[in-house]
Amino acid sequence: MTLVKLRSAREHDWRDQLRRSVRTVDELAAHLDLTPEELAGARRAEAAGLPLRITPHYLALCDANDARCPIRRQVVPRIDEEREAPGDLVDPLGEVAHEIVPGLVQRYPDRALLVSTDQCAIYCRFCTRSRVVGSGEGPLRPSALDQALEAIAARPAIRDVILSGGDPLTMSTEKLAALVGRVRAIPHVEVIRLATRVPVCLPQRVDADLLAALRPHHPIWVMTHFNHPKELTRESAEACARLVDAGFPVMNQAVLLAGVNDDAATLEALFRGLVRWRVRPYYLLMMDPARGTSHLRTPLARGIELMEKLQGRVSGLALPKLIVDTPGGMGKVPVGPDWIVERAPGRTTLRTHRGVEVDYLDPPG
Ligand code: SF4
Repeated sequence: MTLVKLRSAREHDWRDQLRRSVRTVDELAAHLDLTPEELAGARRAEAAGLPLRITPHYLALCDANDARCPIRRQVVPRIDEEREAPGDLVDPLGEVAHEIVPGLVQRYPDRALLVSTDQCAIYCRFCTRSRVVGSGEGPLRPSALDQALEAIAARPAIRDVILSGGDPLTMSTEKLAALVGRVRAIPHVEVIRLATRVPVCLPQRVDADLLAALRPHHPIWVMTHFNHPKELTRESAEACARLVDAGFPVMNQAVLLAGVNDDAATLEALFRGLVRWRVRPYYLLMMDPARGTSHLRTPLARGIELMEKLQGRVSGLALPKLIVDTPGGMGKVPVGPDWIVERAPGRTTLRTHRGVEVDYLDPPG
């Protein structure tokens, strides 16, 4: 094999991408011109807490000379992570309190979330589950997995199982397919969801072997997290096309992040690009108040203002719901601009995106 072919084969091998991920301050500093805030943050991440990890694919999207780069802000730690803001929580979604057995969280009657591994291809600095991801444990232990699957099997109300983590697609294809097969064998489970950032940061992982191994277990939905149009690369487009062509609906849950995507033009470009790929912009999530992430959070009023700007500017297909996942695990709340001006018996006055007020009349009687 020639050197060029060898290099290209390496770039296309997802295991090699993972092996060549940046994990230390020195590796990071060799690629990016780090600011003192980033350098201190990376040193802190190397020593404790949410670790540092960036795949070569994702690192190549970072601007080496500009710390304001929206990709860089998502994965390069800053010393701001040391800061605790009022309302910060170690476990913002109250997952510990809603854990039925280790690794299995149930916050709604018909759904359960299985934390299948603590590993991710990249560690996002805004992660809501930073208390557990990257702790080095790897996939859930076999005995814990048995217990979690027994707990799902014992609860017929659970129709929808979300395999999350960490990122389940960092597991070997064999291990993931075996897990998906065991979930699928539970008769009352109708839908399986894979929550993953792999299409964004490790698109090579979505290969023919993976699709062939998972396809027999449909319906499987893929829930991913594209946050910025810079992430809409050719490799990610191909990964999403492979998923959709193989029958996996792909839904995007973007997170509203300060200095990354908190402006209407950026969100519009992101959502339009995803729809072109047949990926549905599903949620725009207000950030959870995870400890040490306040520098990446935006006020709720800003999220509502952005939704107002996008209404009427992009089609409903490209417009996600703005969601607050309420602290303590009390459930998701859709929020948005108030389009109702006045309610009267039989009549509601609505404000449209054009700023015009229009009456909507109820049927007589
Ligand atoms: S990939 Fe998901 S679970 Fe992993 S660090 Fe990013 S947001 Fe957290």
